[in-house]
Amino acid sequence: MNIDLLTVESTRTAIAEKQFTAAAMVDAFYEKIGKDDPDIGAYLTLSEEGAYAQAARIDELAGRGDALPALAGVPIAVKDVISTKGVRTTAGSKILANYDAPYNATVIDRLEAAGAIVLGKTNCDEFAMGSSNENSGFHPVRNPRDRTRVPGGSSGGSAAVIAAGTAVASLGTDTGGSIRQPASFCGVVGLMPTYGRVSRYGLIAFASSLDKIGPFGKTVKDAALLLEVMAGRDPMDSTSADVPVPRYSDFVGQPIAGLKIGVPGEYFGEGLDAEVRAAVEAAIKKLAEAGCEIVPISLKHTSYAIPTYYLVATAEASSNLARFDGVRYSVRAKSVKTPAEMYRRTRNEGFGAEVKRRIMLGTYALSAGYYDAYYLKAQKVRSLIARDFDEAFAKVDAIVTPTTPTTAFRLGEKADDPLAMYLADIFTVTASLAGIPGLSLPCGNNSDGLPIGLQVLGKHFDEATVLRVGHVAEHALAGQSR
Ligand code: GLN
Repeated sequence: MNIDLLTVESTRTAIAEKQFTAAAMVDAFYEKIGKDDPDIGAYLTLSEEGAYAQAARIDELAGRGDALPALAGVPIAVKDVISTKGVRTTAGSKILANYDAPYNATVIDRLEAAGAIVLGKTNCDEFAMGSSNENSGFHPVRNPRDRTRVPGGSSGGSAAVIAAGTAVASLGTDTGGSIRQPASFCGVVGLMPTYGRVSRYGLIAFASSLDKIGPFGKTVKDAALLLEVMAGRDPMDSTSADVPVPRYSDFVGQPIAGLKIGVPGEYFGEGLDAEVRAAVEAAIKKLAEAGCEIVPISLKHTSYAIPTYYLVATAEASSNLARFDGVRYSVRAKSVKTPAEMYRRTRNEGFGAEVKRRIMLGTYALSAGYYDAYYLKAQKVRSLIARDFDEAFAKVDAIVTPTTPTTAFRLGEKADDPLAMYLADIFTVTASLAGIPGLSLPCGNNSDGLPIGLQVLGKHFDEATVLRVGHVAEHALAGQSR
């Protein structure tokens, strides 16, 4: 059994045709994880008990010759900010080092009902704050494509398992780029859905107006197959949208001739690595050859996106993280004398440096006297950034950009320079602030063999067009990556 090449579809087919059992396949994945993951560090927890129980259910269905559900037997890994019933869920933080979630996130219930097998939980930056995975409260993740480099963040573990072949698909979260940027750095596909497309019930909140759960996979089609199971209104999340969910996989493979593709000048200026630029320009040429009309556009508030994002995200984080106080759950500081000392020491010992930095920044931005100058101003600029996209999408069907200005950087390279780290998000935070969907897919390698990512952005709730364009680019570029 060669598990390295498995996709969502081929896994399901192989199990339906009894080429192997789900249980044997799960064995093979855990063997590979045991061999390769200690050096990569992508998994924090393995959920063997649940995985084998689910595999037995799928094997029973297959044994009876019953029709198999859409994701039957597909082994997935789940970012550790997503709640999994009875399974350790730490959000990459020491403050939750002993926390087993008492319920499943809606996405987990939906994926498991469709037959997916959760192999384990993946490492991430603490509370999803970071761009390199070096902010994990436990240990960093190494990029499987070059182990001296970061996999990106904050969903670095979920991107790394796809690149390493230690899961077929995975879940990440994207608040400011945390699905697209690690997908780009690891040479895999990652999709951030529209805000509200996928329920956030059971997701440990970072910045509630920006957080989205989305899939990683080897192919655009795999991302589509996961999204169509995960998406849709959930009564448990009042911000989940009541918008019909198309069968996204039906759009994958449809021609794109005649579509208008916007290329924003602001994303091709200073700071863009020359090899990244060349690869993205080559991909745009392929889209033109496929019959798309390439339209130069302007997203004129792009340069304000980083400060805007880091005000909104830290403000929301400071409020969301107030719940970790050692009272109801989480690790509690020992031998304390007063409740105040208990809160203070629990939070001081439990949170890492970046989380503390953000709580302080966010608390400052929200405090009386500064609220108007910072938070309110940031909200206004956020509207202008969203309006840039509205105006662009009046003229084009999708927008194509580099996902990141550079390829994966070295472990430690930016760890002591938070500002340099924040700048790694320059091309991803704009779509996050606007709430629109974004896909990153591999579009070649640089001269060191490091993957380069192409970002495809779409209108609200138009993941179908994003996936269609991404699939054509993926096939036109086949052979240029990996
Ligand atoms: N790198 C960004 C940050 O640190 C984005 C994180 C995310 O999308 N979760 O906030």
